[in-house]
Amino acid sequence: MSFSSEVKAELSANISTSRHCQLAELAAFLCFLGRVDEDKKGGVSLGLQTENAAVQRKCFTLLKKTFNIDEGALPLCYEEGKGHTYVNLTENSSEVNKILQAIKIDEKEGLKSAGEKGVNPLLIKNACCKRAFLRGAFLCIGSMSDPGKSYHLEFVCTHKGSAEQLKELIQGFEVDAKIVIRKKYYVVYLKEGAGIVDLLNIMEAHISLMNFENYRIVKEVRNSINRKVNCETANITKTVNASSKQIEDILLIRERYGFQNLPDNLRVTAELRLEYPDATLKELGQILNPTVGKSGMNHRLRKLSEIADRLRD
Ligand SMILES: [Zn+2]
Repeated sequence: MSFSSEVKAELSANISTSRHCQLAELAAFLCFLGRVDEDKKGGVSLGLQTENAAVQRKCFTLLKKTFNIDEGALPLCYEEGKGHTYVNLTENSSEVNKILQAIKIDEKEGLKSAGEKGVNPLLIKNACCKRAFLRGAFLCIGSMSDPGKSYHLEFVCTHKGSAEQLKELIQGFEVDAKIVIRKKYYVVYLKEGAGIVDLLNIMEAHISLMNFENYRIVKEVRNSINRKVNCETANITKTVNASSKQIEDILLIRERYGFQNLPDNLRVTAELRLEYPDATLKELGQILNPTVGKSGMNHRLRKLSEIADRLRD
């Protein structure tokens, strides 16, 4: 199972106990995936467009709890062309109206308008209801990448208004969310590991949160080891590069000038460098008796380099 579906499985098992929260989540389902159809006799039916069984099940659970509506004997699911599954929720017009009223859907403007502009803010006034709404939204239009690979969580909205509402809702919890337009969709997304942790917490997906953190820890340890290795490699390269230039200078001096003509301290340093090409300046200085500090060694090698430069001229 992908990490995203693990989160969804956890969210679909989380049923709010308060009616206000149940309605808020139901509103998310209906605004993002719901559809009201009129029949020839002027009656209306309510359904969901989703092939996601977890969403279908949870929607029925919420309808049962809030309106005592059963799945009943309706023709539940049918395919509507490619990749479109429609689930009939109720064909009873008075039930449909009751539901739409409870989730504060304007009778004239209807579900479509709520899908475009976002839900009535009164419905998600409480923090608990905001959490429930986000749970519903993630189940309907959310997904996230495997934290072992990258940190990315997104909600794919078909309308700008509902995307803005989602973004503001998430930002209201002090989590940074952005919107990017992808093809004809408005995608609300989070890119930071810390933000995703916060959002999982807000949606009350606590098991997924722990799993996500485990991935994060493993990744961070691995990154920190890589950083150290890279840093050490860089230092070694630096030492080797400096050393090979010094050796080049020293060999030139030996050939054209002769070690015997150098002052003692420079001669000893030159011989030592040839003997220990990989040693750092600090290590070289410690071999000498009496020992010489790093800056002292640096000074001596610079002198040698100046002599070599003069010889080159
Ligand atoms: Zn609530």
